[in-house]
Amino acid sequence: MHQFPDAKAVVSALEPDEPVILTRPHAAARAARFFVEKFPGTSMYAVKANPSPDLLRVLWDNGVTHYDVASIGEVRLVRGLLPQAKLCFMHPVKTPRAIREAYFTHGVRTFSLDTLDELQKIVTATTDDDGVEASDLQLLVRLRVSSEHSELSLAAKFGVDLIDAAPLLQATRQHCDALGICFHVGSQAMTPFAYVQALERVRAAIAEAAVTVDIIDVGGGFPSEYPGMEPPPLEDYFAMIHRHFEALPISYSAELWAEPGRALCAEYSSIIVRVEKRRENELYINDGAYGALFDAAHVAWRFPVRALEDDLIKPLGEFAFYGPTCDDADYMAGPFLLPEDIQAGDYIEIGMLGAYGAAMKTDFNGFGAVEGAIVMDEPMASLYRGDRADPRESDNVVSLR
Ligand SMILES: *Cc1c(COP(=O)(O)O)cnc(C)c1O
Repeated sequence: MHQFPDAKAVVSALEPDEPVILTRPHAAARAARFFVEKFPGTSMYAVKANPSPDLLRVLWDNGVTHYDVASIGEVRLVRGLLPQAKLCFMHPVKTPRAIREAYFTHGVRTFSLDTLDELQKIVTATTDDDGVEASDLQLLVRLRVSSEHSELSLAAKFGVDLIDAAPLLQATRQHCDALGICFHVGSQAMTPFAYVQALERVRAAIAEAAVTVDIIDVGGGFPSEYPGMEPPPLEDYFAMIHRHFEALPISYSAELWAEPGRALCAEYSSIIVRVEKRRENELYINDGAYGALFDAAHVAWRFPVRALEDDLIKPLGEFAFYGPTCDDADYMAGPFLLPEDIQAGDYIEIGMLGAYGAAMKTDFNGFGAVEGAIVMDEPMASLYRGDRADPRESDNVVSLR
């Protein structure tokens, strides 16, 4: 892939007809080192946020050794690229064949579950041809927790309710070498109290079950920065998680894990799009709901934008986007703030698309083509540069004081 100083240089060199995904390996490297150095436990990258092989290598090179994989496709992908990585199969509903292949072919020992049926499935699928049960399983019971502090809920689909957790923990303990409890507070958790609440539920589950727990996995949900969403510093999340982890009734040697997806890769990518038509304050651009802008369309996520033309001078106005496909749903309400005199032919950079953006692109309606380039400038926002104003002063977060 070619390297350029920034998006403007890409536009002058290529005048691209197709969207261009820009990657910033230095930004992903910085995020990885931050988690590896500052999270008080093991950081496991949640591959679904962005499975790009280039990104996986950057994370590995910067100290991320554990990978949360959710499908046999992700198991094969990461194992093929990173033969030494520790893979954890953290989808609570798997097929027996996927478990078997993961365990016997790819060396996966860590699985999550939220029902007795899944426990039985894992035990059966990892039993060898002589009928000997696996003795080296790490099994994590997924507990349902609240998503009330997060922008995207993950509370409905997975997780055993606290009321049913004790028998499942006791049964799981019989079949594993290490027993863990995991949860997910929802994506883009805007306050560390999300984890405090969840860890309180973990405490209740352990007390009810009276089992020895070896691993506490606080899942994903660590935020990134977007327009209108200014989370507190990640250090606050780490400190609170550590304090409440230390106070749990678990063994002295118990491990703390996390599964950051978004926080490790949001800053890694942005995209250059071109305005093909303007109708009042609606811009028809060449990427959208079926491309890298899935969340902008489907959950009205506001990504940061900037016009890449130097001759646009008018003050900023509020715009909505239409994507390139013929589908009315290919619409992104925004509002996106751009110069009022923007017009067809102008290029825009849309930032913070490394997580659940670049990874979502499809070929629907023949619009999947995309180019790629590496750029050296800074992402449009960063939680890792140390030069952020303290967002605890802003009014969209719960104050810690
Ligand atoms: C999606 C997912 C993650 C990553 O979540 P982020 O909010 O992107 O950090 C982690 N763990 C599990 C089980 C997930 O499904």
